[in-house]
Amino acid sequence: MCIFCKIIKGEIPSKKLYEDDDVLAILDISQATKGHTLIMPKKHYENLLEIPSDELRRVMIVAQMVAKKINEVYKPAGINLLNNCGEVAGQSVMHFHTHIIPRYTSSDLKLGFENHMDQYDLDEIQKELKL
Ligand SMILES: [Zn+2]
Repeated sequence: MCIFCKIIKGEIPSKKLYEDDDVLAILDISQATKGHTLIMPKKHYENLLEIPSDELRRVMIVAQMVAKKINEVYKPAGINLLNNCGEVAGQSVMHFHTHIIPRYTSSDLKLGFENHMDQYDLDEIQKELKL
């Protein structure tokens, strides 16, 4: 059983912020920034590609609730909503979860995008990915 399933079952202690029949929100033990929270479905799905859309919807509604509460209490300058899908992307627990990371300064978390627009053809990518 994965570590989050054990947390959900109460076999491992956690700092719960919210819980209902389907979703659990707990403080991330690492606290990348103050208030860093994890929101997860109670059922085990490995990642973003596996979770059914109705469960994802429930998780995201709770993520927004948590973000609003953090915003009200800590008044951060911004908030990141982050999901890591796959080990290469930084997923360390293979049970779908999303991070809410309050941002107090622009340098309190290392997250960045480099511009590679000179390497790719947007028309080609649009053609390949259009739904
Ligand atoms: Zn699990």
